[in-house]
Amino acid sequence: MKKVYLDNSATTPVSKEVLEAMIPYFTETFGNPSSIHSHGRETRSVIEKSRKKIADLLGTSPAEIFFTSGGTEADNMAIISSISSLGVKHMVSSTLEHHAVLHTVEHQAKTGKINLDLIRHSDLGELDIEHLRQSTQKGSLVSIMHANNEIGNLNDINTISEICREKGAFFHTDTVQTMGKVKHNLQELDIDFLIGSAHKFHGPKGIGFIYVNANNKIDPFIHGGAQERNMRGGTENVAGIIGLAKALELAYENQDTDKKYIESIKRSMIEQLKEKIEGVSFNGLSEDLEKSIHTVLNVSIPESSDNDMLLFSLDIKGVSVSGGSACSSGTSIGSHVLEAINSDPRRGAIRFSFSKYTTMEEVTYAVDSLKELLS
Ligand code: PLP
Repeated sequence: MKKVYLDNSATTPVSKEVLEAMIPYFTETFGNPSSIHSHGRETRSVIEKSRKKIADLLGTSPAEIFFTSGGTEADNMAIISSISSLGVKHMVSSTLEHHAVLHTVEHQAKTGKINLDLIRHSDLGELDIEHLRQSTQKGSLVSIMHANNEIGNLNDINTISEICREKGAFFHTDTVQTMGKVKHNLQELDIDFLIGSAHKFHGPKGIGFIYVNANNKIDPFIHGGAQERNMRGGTENVAGIIGLAKALELAYENQDTDKKYIESIKRSMIEQLKEKIEGVSFNGLSEDLEKSIHTVLNVSIPESSDNDMLLFSLDIKGVSVSGGSACSSGTSIGSHVLEAINSDPRRGAIRFSFSKYTTMEEVTYAVDSLKELLS
């Protein structure tokens, strides 16, 4: 059976080059980086080289990069450490955030550690920047993602950073969906926290990082050994760190070519969907190639009693995608993002997401399969 993978926002395959770079660190160079003997010193040295590589790509210093188990931990670290170490008592965020941020800020608010303002947005998922400006106070932590993982909307993090600096607030951005796909330059973007997760850009799962601006002195996030300069106890995921740095390096090296190619894939899918599927539309700003990330297309399908089965039926045809419509009233399953932008729960929703490995043929197969299911 044909197998077509169009769920690259959920995760991506590890590239061959990344895997090859990682392999020696399982069996040959395996010492515990905290050990003082030569085996340990060897792995310590490659960890620090990887940290430097990532810092150089982002235009910052290695002292500001900390490895984590991925995006979720990095989001938690930014938020929880700001509260415990920087005196943050008020936060500004949005219901459109990934649960790694949204559930974390909601928990902090529920347990009385912060007051939380969730900023307004339009039905296309555009954030109300004036509301953000009014809500942000001196000492607030603003946590707003760069690209939305479901609808692909890109938020203007440069403007949000300027507002935060004007107001004397801290700014954290969840850049999991844009890391490796757009150039983040910390020489130009004045920010407090920014994150990445390797499995979203052809690196391994279970490894990520957080950039912490050196002006912010924060306490250890995970207590234990002195790893990560006392900020995160626990023996380092050495092979993962090597894979993360290699994946980011490759992503930066080929970024312009990959972006152009993926944009052409997305453009073709939009055209084919409009041509072949009557009544199709797009959720959020995902149809707009300027205002959404090139890797995500969130498609809205006309109302039908078969919509509940759509993802399952595509799966049977070998097409892996994700989605699910807005939560209908009284149910808790479904997408909190589509619900927040008032997407009609009766319409079907499918998130197609692409990578450099997606082919035109796969996109055509997916659209034709969808057309067949809907007819
Ligand atoms: N933030 C965003 C925007 C994401 O899309 C994801 C993963 O889907 C995460 C955070 C969580 O990352 P991880 O899977 O590395 O914990």
